Amino acid sequence: MKILVTGGAGFIGSAVIRHIIQHTQDSVINLDKLTYAGNLESLVSVLGSDRYAFEQVDICDRADLKCVFFTHQPDVVMHLAAESHVDRSITGPAEFIQTNIVGTYTLLEAAREYWNTLEGSAKQMFRFHHISTDEVYGDLPHPDEQQESDLAKELPLFTEQTAYAPSSPYSASKASSDHLVRAWLRTYDLPIIVTNCSNNYGPYHFPEKLIPLVILNALEGKDLPIYGKGDQIRDWLYVEDHARALYKVVTEGKVGETYNIGGHNEKTNLEVVETICEILDELAPRPQIGSSLKTKYSTLIIHVKDRPGHDRRYAIDATKMSEELNWKPEETFETGLRKTIQWYLDNLTWCNNVQDGSYQRERLGVLKEKEA
Ligand code: NAD
Repeated sequence: MKILVTGGAGFIGSAVIRHIIQHTQDSVINLDKLTYAGNLESLVSVLGSDRYAFEQVDICDRADLKCVFFTHQPDVVMHLAAESHVDRSITGPAEFIQTNIVGTYTLLEAAREYWNTLEGSAKQMFRFHHISTDEVYGDLPHPDEQQESDLAKELPLFTEQTAYAPSSPYSASKASSDHLVRAWLRTYDLPIIVTNCSNNYGPYHFPEKLIPLVILNALEGKDLPIYGKGDQIRDWLYVEDHARALYKVVTEGKVGETYNIGGHNEKTNLEVVETICEILDELAPRPQIGSSLKTKYSTLIIHVKDRPGHDRRYAIDATKMSEELNWKPEETFETGLRKTIQWYLDNLTWCNNVQDGSYQRERLGVLKEKEA
């Protein structure tokens, strides 16, 4: 197969491309605009493969997209290109509307124009796989809100039937793109599949997101900021488990279906940061200056003002993925986090190179007094 991956220079897209080149015989065309979040250095292990090609293209540019489709003639599309950071969407939503909504629309139209020229099995086998987030569902009840009489009951999870209720400009723009993708099946018969996944973590994650930010700040002895009380719950999935899941979906999933992907790893943000500190204490102990207590990484934790509209809990029910596609995550949170931390310790040059000077791990997504 020839797989057109959009956003292949990003965190998850690059994991998908490394997976395809290293574990299958398929070819990849990586279509990426190379925004601040796109880094070809994340693909050094596959750049030399004759099954890998790169096109620097904006998904909002219809003419360039047409050229890529008709030049490379892909069998399937895996669409990951997006603006992906909630805090940035609060500070500047315009890019999110443009790339996530207008860009997805433009890509759908370019894909449809190309698909209409296909015949026979090529037309039948074509897939447009849209990669989305569990954040489109809004948030779930939090254990703190449970009545005493309900404590024995299990808290609900997001299923493929959960109604959309996005909270941030990011999640609203992703929800809009999901709706567009499903409408292109219903209206034009374009063979689409949608996946909604929980929070990913792992190697090559841009240092603005919680886990890499905490690892790098800790190593530099900087504050480890926790939004509010840090009791927000996320369901963490190791990025390579997500990449395997996405490949299964695009090759074995059914047209028109939605698949929820998650790791069954519900953790509060505070637990995540404390666990990172404990693993770092072991793998990269801080220098013994003064009291040994002060040398624990956890002493760097500070609480800062919460994110506006912050969702309290996400958790995925991934039963459909396991029952219909026989997929299960291979990493537990503990094994995946340890691998991730070791990767950052071994790849500090990558971290320096991807931070181009315009972003210095400062706080984003805070509203001015007048806006709040
Ligand atoms: P990322 O921000 O790391 O990468 C996004 C990539 O898209 C970058 O390489 C960037 O250059 C590219 N891009 C941005 N705008 C573009 C445009 N207009 N044209 C072409 N390329 C463009 O994002 P990620 O974390 O890898 O997420 C990938 C996808 O997975 C996104 O659609 C995101 O919504 C979804 N997702 C992410 C998570 C997560 O935890 N990171 C979880 C579930 C779903």
